[in-house]
Amino acid sequence: MSDNNQIITGFDLWHLSLPVVSARDHGIGRVDGTCEVVILRLTSESGETGWGEASPWVVFTGSPEATFAALDRYIRPLVLGRKVAEREKIMLDAERAVAHCTEAKTALDTALLDLAARLSNQPVHALVGGKCRDTIPLSVSLANPDFAQDRALLNRLREDGVRIVKLKTGFRDHDFDLMRLEALALDYPEFVVRVDYNQGLSPEDALARVRDVATFRPDFIEQPVRAPHYDLMAQIREAIVVPLLADESVFGPEDMARAIREGICDGVSIKLMKSGGFARAQTVATMAANQGLGVYGGDMFEAGIAHLAGTHLIAATRAIDLGCEFYQARYYLKEDILETPFPCNGGHVQVPDTPGLGIRPDLDKLNHYNIAKGRGT
Ligand SMILES: [Mg+2]
Repeated sequence: MSDNNQIITGFDLWHLSLPVVSARDHGIGRVDGTCEVVILRLTSESGETGWGEASPWVVFTGSPEATFAALDRYIRPLVLGRKVAEREKIMLDAERAVAHCTEAKTALDTALLDLAARLSNQPVHALVGGKCRDTIPLSVSLANPDFAQDRALLNRLREDGVRIVKLKTGFRDHDFDLMRLEALALDYPEFVVRVDYNQGLSPEDALARVRDVATFRPDFIEQPVRAPHYDLMAQIREAIVVPLLADESVFGPEDMARAIREGICDGVSIKLMKSGGFARAQTVATMAANQGLGVYGGDMFEAGIAHLAGTHLIAATRAIDLGCEFYQARYYLKEDILETPFPCNGGHVQVPDTPGLGIRPDLDKLNHYNIAKGRGT
């Protein structure tokens, strides 16, 4: 029997609560104590496994409970008994069976790809277009309400060779943001600085504050206002010379088409958790690049499996040219879930070439951090 004709016989879920090293503030909300992700394992009849991760953030994409239920209750029956080779059809069925829940669909797509790639002894990037880069520049976000702790992180990043940071702004007062931008310019001149408001500015204050921040000439300024405020994004973009990036305003290709039509941004943050799968993420990236927009590989509060999925996506998508922010596994979680560390060296993520995603999760860690009740493993 050819490998991809194998039937999917196992569908297991873990709902993880993963301790983090500090509080982080963003324009739309805080993360403190733990972050929660859902892990999916598919098993084929030969016993091969494929893994996927859903990393929702309740104020951004949705809740872990909704993600778990989408997979457990509605997507599970669409997958069991199907052939691994039916990936596209399974994804279409999942899209039609559950509205939204893009993180759940990404976990499914990732697990199907990991399984198909392992069965055919190839890396995932070979199945989604082929590799166009071996390394990806890493950006680490600074979002600690205690800037002294972020200074300690900056010193560590400097040692590690990281040269891009993204300053999270708009969660406290404007002076705090300007103070940190000054400190970065003065004490950490070797870093490229990007700014992300995560929708944190009110419509009344947005233009004046973004103008102030633009005087520091950051690499780009991301999503200063709420996602639906396309008109305001377009106005701000007109008013500043620094590139304006859209994140929360653009989830899938439908949003990207509107964003291009209405001229709201000079670049876009691509996230598998927003797009609902690899094909849709690649479509958004290519639509943006075809208009001359910059494309950035963003992330959510993720563990290593989601980072690996994003790494294979970017490795195989020429349009994503502004690097990535897969830093949580190394710099934010107290302990990641992978068997070996997420591959990162000299400020760059290293693209794995071993079969599947390249690394599996550690089963002991999954069971240790699992908070799912009832079904699952
Ligand atoms: Mg963002």
